[in-house]
Amino acid sequence: MSDSAPSEPLGEIFRRLIGNTGAISLMHYMGEANARYYSSRDPLGAAGDFVTAPEISQMFGELIGLWLADMWINAGREEPVHYVELGPGRGTLALDALRSARRYGLEPSIHFVEASTALKDVQLANVPRAQWHYDLSTVPAYGPVLVVANEFLDALPVRQLVMTEQGWRERMVVPDGDRFVCIAGSQPMDAAIPEARRQAALGTIIETCPGAAATVYEVAGRLMEQGGAALFIDYGHDALRDGSTLQAVRQHLKVDPFIQPGEADLTVHVDFASLAPIAQSRGVRWMGTVPQGRWLRNLGIDARAQTLSQTAPQHAQAIETAKERLVGEGQMGLLFKVMGLAGPGWPGGAGF
Ligand code: SAH
Repeated sequence: MSDSAPSEPLGEIFRRLIGNTGAISLMHYMGEANARYYSSRDPLGAAGDFVTAPEISQMFGELIGLWLADMWINAGREEPVHYVELGPGRGTLALDALRSARRYGLEPSIHFVEASTALKDVQLANVPRAQWHYDLSTVPAYGPVLVVANEFLDALPVRQLVMTEQGWRERMVVPDGDRFVCIAGSQPMDAAIPEARRQAALGTIIETCPGAAATVYEVAGRLMEQGGAALFIDYGHDALRDGSTLQAVRQHLKVDPFIQPGEADLTVHVDFASLAPIAQSRGVRWMGTVPQGRWLRNLGIDARAQTLSQTAPQHAQAIETAKERLVGEGQMGLLFKVMGLAGPGWPGGAGF
């Protein structure tokens, strides 16, 4: 954990900044809030703020490891090969995936792209062989990459545009008593909206995530140059839609995103509908974007759960409950999506 002195609440810093220079964009607000949030704690698990799929069950990471090994074997077992995980949390997914991949001879070098020093400490303890990167630019440029990002894109800041009487404006943030509120900015933003979507009812909000677009663009470029495959897993939608999806989670409850910035996890629904064409524009093969439940079932999560239960009958109920959380339609199974990408000459991936 970071040993720096407790810092000034981010809300106070925002108030001073806004007092001096005027409203800040929602994108700025979300980016700073999450940078503070992730750098100051390990948010994962029952004692934290939220639980992710790899923390629910080892089956999640194991099936991803098998998927990667299957891709790599069918592509010709090229070496060197690199496992690259974006926002690896506690390193749990990597541990489970690499353990199951090793049984098929896949032992890649391990690269973690992580911004949080607090989580880096946890990852170092769990996966000491990993190498850390602040962004993708320093990941090795030779040899295929196997890229995995689970609940990474949803933490990247979004820009929101709102239709006003004066046309499209960016949503900006200002203080209001002890919280913050959104107002429409003063600059015309019509040019930022694709022409086909420019006519809209008053109050319509369009959300874009430049960071997610840039990440997918860069990963797709690596797949084209180096070969490999990528899995982006997140909650989101695969059809264009309007409206704000910003939410805040703290201690497993939804809270107001505009109170105490930096103290809750701010997330958005990932707009997979816009990400697929961005990847395709670089020439990679888009395998599809499918619901997590269907993908895990196609990969054999039911059989895996059965094997685990036979090995440890005393845990059979817990294993079944965990599986249901991952695949259940009312749980993560439908809301979460898996998007698969592959470089030239790489096979069609299982499960899509
Ligand atoms: N993938 C993990 C953790 C998800 S939480 C799991 O499934 O359990 C989001 C992760 O992304 C954290 O590791 C967080 O520190 C990291 N992260 C968030 N924003 C980031 C950014 N801009 N750059 C790099 N890592 C980031």
